[in-house]
Amino acid sequence: MNTHQIVNEEQILQLINKGKTTTKEEIIEIIEKAKDCHGLTLEEAASLLTIKDDETMGILLDTAKFVKDVIYGKRVVIFTPLYTSNECTNNCLYCGFRVANKHLHRKTLNKEEIVNEAKAIEKQGHKRLLLVCGEDTKKTHIKHITDALEAIYQETGIRRINVNAAPMEVEDFKKLKAVGIGTYQIFQETYHRETYKKMHPSGSKSDYDYRLTAIERALEAGVDDFGIGALLGLYDYQFDVLATLMHSQYMDNKYGVGPHTISVPRLRPALDSALEEVPHQVSDQDFKKIVAVYRLTLPYTGIILSTRESEALRDELLSLGVSQMSAGSKTNPGGYEKDDREATQFETSDERSLGEVLQVICQQGYLPSFCTACYRANRTGEAFMNLAKEAEIHEFCQSNAILTFKEHLLDYGSEETIEKGNVLIEKALKEIDNERVYQMTLNKLKEIEKGKRDLFF
Ligand code: SAM
Ligand code: SF4
Repeated sequence: MNTHQIVNEEQILQLINKGKTTTKEEIIEIIEKAKDCHGLTLEEAASLLTIKDDETMGILLDTAKFVKDVIYGKRVVIFTPLYTSNECTNNCLYCGFRVANKHLHRKTLNKEEIVNEAKAIEKQGHKRLLLVCGEDTKKTHIKHITDALEAIYQETGIRRINVNAAPMEVEDFKKLKAVGIGTYQIFQETYHRETYKKMHPSGSKSDYDYRLTAIERALEAGVDDFGIGALLGLYDYQFDVLATLMHSQYMDNKYGVGPHTISVPRLRPALDSALEEVPHQVSDQDFKKIVAVYRLTLPYTGIILSTRESEALRDELLSLGVSQMSAGSKTNPGGYEKDDREATQFETSDERSLGEVLQVICQQGYLPSFCTACYRANRTGEAFMNLAKEAEIHEFCQSNAILTFKEHLLDYGSEETIEKGNVLIEKALKEIDNERVYQMTLNKLKEIEKGKRDLFF
């Protein structure tokens, strides 16, 4: 396969150059067009990425807020990562797990330890996990991952496990599908080939094309929910954001399925990182612009924000288009049971507990959701996208958010969270337009109050 068809550098450079010639009036017209929630072209996204002045930024951010509210309402889905191993044979210059880091305390959790971590996470009140590991064929092979998924599903109340792991063959993706993977997530890090080569000097990850084509193999195996993203800070963000959008467009055109999610990881300090400084610093202002441009260009794709970002910025980004957020996260294997800082992948920034994050979300009028329904009701891939594009998914999501948050409050909520949460649930109920769905939600809420669990649409 000619992978230059997926991401064409030449074309991206042309888009960037053309974007520079857009006038302020044209940019405002593009933002105005985005309000119809049908997305934008790559050319239009390239123009928006050139915005620098405060006034136009303000209009862009307000519109991202508008589109987020129309499509996602006030919901934000909550999850946390579970790191099963920090052993890795790659040498990504920016990562604390890289093979050349001799100071890292290495650890691969066994099945029992993985289950204990999942239980510790569940005890916080989470239902949705992102399983993460380094790449080491002897330690983090496919069986390590599938055994982990099977054990967590069997032995804990965790209901959905997404996976962020190295690219693999179709056969291995089929095994992941068989044990009930949610979304398969893989970041290209940078789509710029020359920079990619520099950042990944050795190990299997140095094969750019094998990584780029991973989600096509996943689809072939039936894993139709996938997440992509670029590690912001490695290369020019305009290039990498446009390349991520191009990758998404390629998948949508060829397979009728775009990414379920786009993540916005931004480079963080890591133990023994080989990078002395961030090669292409992305300011907070540019970071907000990136989230807003993704939101306007792909209104129906979830945007994931991790605890790499600060409390203040995360609280602000909540309204700008982010639809999923991690909370209370650890990036070291075993970290939920025993926090060994010398075993972390990178430093997290927002170190608040899940309860604290939930309170802030509620204070801002947003509705935390622990929903895991779509994957379990077979609303994945194309089926999900079609529903989402018709905006029908909204009806399910609002009710499922209410039901799962109510469960959370009853089982794990502190007094303060319960108080704020119940006010929010009352408000969210009133936002359900469909009378039948409203009545059904009320009935299910009563059941939950009586002790029933895991009710969803
Ligand atoms: N080892 C697999 C891989 O590299 O694809 C999967 C797990 S890796 C731990 C998950 C992601 O962490 C990487 O794709 C990269 O984007 C991100 N990451 C690595 N080092 C980072 C750093 N210093 N700051 C922020 N994110 C980082
Ligand atoms: Fe290994 Fe992934 Fe870290 Fe690279 S980013 S060193 S592959 S864990």
